[in-house]
Amino acid sequence: MKKTLLLFCWGLFTIGVFAGQTQASLFEVKAMRNYKGVVEYLDNIVKTYGQNAQEFVLGDSDSGQKIIGVKVGNGPVNNLVVATHHGNEYGSTEVALRFAYTVAVKPIAGQTIWVVPVLNIGGYNAGRREEMSSTRGKSYDPNRNYPSPCGTEGPFTLKSTAALARFIVEKNIVASATLHTFYPAVTYPWGLSTKDLTTGYESIFKGLVQTAAADSHYKTGNTTDLIYAANGSFEDYAFMQQGIWSLLFELGSTHNPSPKQVEDMIAVNVPGLRRMMESAPAQRADKHSFTGTCDRSRGRADRHDE
Ligand SMILES: [Zn+2]
Repeated sequence: MKKTLLLFCWGLFTIGVFAGQTQASLFEVKAMRNYKGVVEYLDNIVKTYGQNAQEFVLGDSDSGQKIIGVKVGNGPVNNLVVATHHGNEYGSTEVALRFAYTVAVKPIAGQTIWVVPVLNIGGYNAGRREEMSSTRGKSYDPNRNYPSPCGTEGPFTLKSTAALARFIVEKNIVASATLHTFYPAVTYPWGLSTKDLTTGYESIFKGLVQTAAADSHYKTGNTTDLIYAANGSFEDYAFMQQGIWSLLFELGSTHNPSPKQVEDMIAVNVPGLRRMMESAPAQRADKHSFTGTCDRSRGRADRHDE
């Protein structure tokens, strides 16, 4: 009898270990994967936590593939995390995937979180910053591809950026985090070529970047001041057009993080992303147009993102 009980307990133990290993390998960090691997990760989230998470299609991309994301939770406030506007910044994809996994395990009360781990699929698969337009025969920087009062390299010459712009309207996105590598910093609008950098919501934005960076101890502040001016970015567009509380995360200290460095980025940023979403206002900003003057002399002198 004792022997049977012992065998039974051993059986339970081995099943437990096996299940634990399977679970871990489904959601493991990689230094680099292709887009197929990203979608498999999302499939695994949905298979395991289907009660909280479903896949969605953001739209078509110039690569010919669908841009897939995961929707987590069912709350009335819709918030967004987008990684890899720049295809070579795979560390940001890994942070987005782990964030999606953690909110699928424990959704944020009152919110629906939309996570797009790779916006620029062609660039991601090729390890290239830019994205190739299928109709224009040339590449564009996706994060200079939105309309902007101080200039743009677009607007919307890529299917991906046009799809994201439609999406934030359709879903009434209230707060967004875009993930890039590297600086490290967490910043807020305006990131334009201007000396008129205040939006009128400095204290709200300061609170958000500080809570986002509480574990990482990344630098925080205004994008142009801290990093550089970049006209035509999603972060400015989302705030300017829709009043979305839009933060820019420049993660880690390299575009080529090792698996250990990816783990470190995840450890200090995933909790911060969650806190940012939990503490963001539940409504968009009322006054969000840019009323300053563009100043081209504030420009491209100090770029960390190339
Ligand atoms: Zn970037």
